[in-house]
Order: sequence, then structure tokens, then C-alpha cells
Amino acid sequence: MRGMFVALIAMTLLTQTNAPPIAIRFGHLWDGTRLVDDAVVVLEGDRIKSVAFGSSEIPRDAAVTDLRRYTAIPGLIDLHTHMTYYWDRKAGMRPLGQRRRPAVTVFLAQDNALRTLETGVTTVRDLGASGDADFAMRDLIAMGAMKGPRMFVAGQGISAPRDAAGPDPDAMRRAAEERVKAGADWVKVYGSRGSFDSVETTQTITFDEMKAIVDAAHALGHKVAIHSYGPSGVKDAVRAGADSVEHGIDLDEETLQDMVKRGTVWVPTIDHNRYYVDAKDDYGFRPEAILPLQKYIARNLESTQRAVRAGVRIGMGSDAVFSMFGQNTRELEWFVKAGMTPARALAAATTIAADLLDQRERLGRIAPGFAADLVAIEGAPLENIGDVINGVRWVMKDGAVVVDRRAAAGK
Ligand SMILES: [Zn+2]
Repeated sequence: MRGMFVALIAMTLLTQTNAPPIAIRFGHLWDGTRLVDDAVVVLEGDRIKSVAFGSSEIPRDAAVTDLRRYTAIPGLIDLHTHMTYYWDRKAGMRPLGQRRRPAVTVFLAQDNALRTLETGVTTVRDLGASGDADFAMRDLIAMGAMKGPRMFVAGQGISAPRDAAGPDPDAMRRAAEERVKAGADWVKVYGSRGSFDSVETTQTITFDEMKAIVDAAHALGHKVAIHSYGPSGVKDAVRAGADSVEHGIDLDEETLQDMVKRGTVWVPTIDHNRYYVDAKDDYGFRPEAILPLQKYIARNLESTQRAVRAGVRIGMGSDAVFSMFGQNTRELEWFVKAGMTPARALAAATTIAADLLDQRERLGRIAPGFAADLVAIEGAPLENIGDVINGVRWVMKDGAVVVDRRAAAGK
């Protein structure tokens, strides 16, 4: 019995050694920093072994995948999702009226994860969930038991208690420590009101409270993302040392300069209010809610334009919930509208995002030693950002093909 076991292991090792190397050819390749032609990416398991140019670089015994009609870009990173916000249309409910057990949500939310992969997003930072559903999804995906983008998660976001007598930095510090202890990679803070059809900018967490949270999380080696719809909350979040700030309008020049100085990443999530306008009937939003959403979009874009000019590090976050999955990268179009080149917009979803996640040696680039996360785009993504949004034909994550739509596209 024992001899058989040893023989089996030996056979497994032999098979692995004899497996031909996998080489993938692309017509063009953007590695996260530059665009090259006639590229050959050679894999070693779930990692990239080499990136070279020209057919002479293909290992003789390699299994070759020919994607020469496409341009490769690194697997994209969506810095703001709510993957466990699943809408069960069959139940005849609005997205916000649903009740179910977290385990059922985890199973159903696989659909959100698959739709996200189809946009070329292979990594997400998930900023808020309940019932530990995000921890379960993160772990199942990491185990290979569920198909989806790798997840960095925050658990339940910290918000001011409705019945609070006044600011309580010590309670906020304890809340941050609890989140980390529970298994959160990131700490998420709701620093203001505003969500769904409400664009209310009122700040709900004070500077001292934000500072207590940031200091506690940083002491434990974890980072903090602070949500603020209004400018005062953004300003305080930056001053308190938040690693990223989510949403925001009317940012003043002093705050933008402070972000540049500190290297704070701003995730403006312009597109999520576009989605709420488009999906208003699914949610049953009041007609009066639409104009404020549109006005918020305009001011959100205006601040982004100034942030681009000031040189703020901007990250791509969709704030995808419910039926927005599959539209994760539409934010990139707003970035180009705000004055970014397509390359800079792509950096917001690759190198800058990987850096924020402390994954700069593993994600966001196509280079030796990096995770084999590749996206094949039809078109010219470095000229037309719309091709990134609509031209995804094939996606690889950790060396495994997770999306292949070449046949469906008639190619
Ligand atoms: Zn959010």
C-alpha cells in the first residue's frame, strides 16, 4: 500500500516535469509600462517565466496558444466592489429588499464573480459585506473551489452608530482591531452618508475617529479605505492617513496636493452613479433622485479632471453591486474623459492598484515572476479605451484560462 503511494507520487512528479512549457503568442503586448509587438509569454505553472519577442523565442517543445490577433494586457484590478451584493431576480424582489442566509448568498454570488472575470478583472478589493460572506468567497476562490477574481476583502465596513452620543475614537479603534482580527485584509470606513440613490455628503466620522482607525489598522499591518461623498470627509480622510479615499466631489487644491505628497490613492467611482441612473427602474428609485445623481457625476468628473492635472494617484474602482457586475471597467472611459491617456487609465487598474494592494511584485504587470494573469483584447486598447471595455476575448488567471469568447466573437 505504502509502495503504491510512493509510486503514485513519483508518477505525479514525472508527469509535471514532462508537461511541455506553455507559450502564448500575442500580436501586441502592453506589459504595464510599454507596448511591444510579436510577444511570446512563457508560463511556469501559475507564474510568468519569461516575456520575449519573436517566434525564435518559443521553447522547442512548448504547447503554443496563438493569440496573435489580440493585444495582451495584465489582468485588471477593480479596487472597489461589493461582490456579495447579489440580486436574485427570480424572487421578484428589488435589489435592496432581499433577505437570505449568507451561505446562500456566497453560492449565488459566484455569478457576480464570473461576470467580473469576463471584463478582464482578475483581482478585486471588496469593500463591504455582511455575514462574513466576503471572507468565504475570498477563501473559496483562493482554494480553487470557486471560480472568480482573487479577492482582498474588508468584511463589515465601520460606520458611526445611529444612536451615538458623540465622537468616540476609542470605540472606532476597537472596531478596526476587531475587523482585522475577524480576517479582513482591509479596513473599510463609511466616513459620510451617501449610497445608492442618495448623494448626501454629510460627514459622519470625525477626523479624530478616522485617525484612531488608521493608526490601529496600520499598527497591525493593514490598510484603510475611507468612503466620503463630500469634500470635508475626503480632506479629513487624507489628513488622517487613509491609504485610499473612495468617491468624493468638490475636492479643494490643498487636499489634492496633500494626496500627491502622501501618495494617497483616490478612487473616485464616477461610473457607479451612471449605473444607478441606468438601473433606476430595477431599484424603484424615485424620479426626483435622478437629477441629483447626474449632478453628482458632473462634479465627481470635475474633481477627477483637477486630480489628473495635479498628479494624484487615481485608482479604478467600479463600486459594482447587484446588476453592475460585468460593467466593472466602464470607469476607465471616465478617466480618459478626465484627461488621462489610455495608458494612464490602464495604470489605474494595474500598476497603481497593485501597489495599493502591496502586490507590486506579483500583480499588475506582465513580467517574469508575476502571476500569469493575462487578458487578450481585440482592437487597440492603448488608442481606444473602449476596446478594453468591449473587446475582452480571453482571460487567464494564475495560468488557467477562465474566459474564452473567441468562438462567440466569430474569430
Ligand atoms: Zn462601495
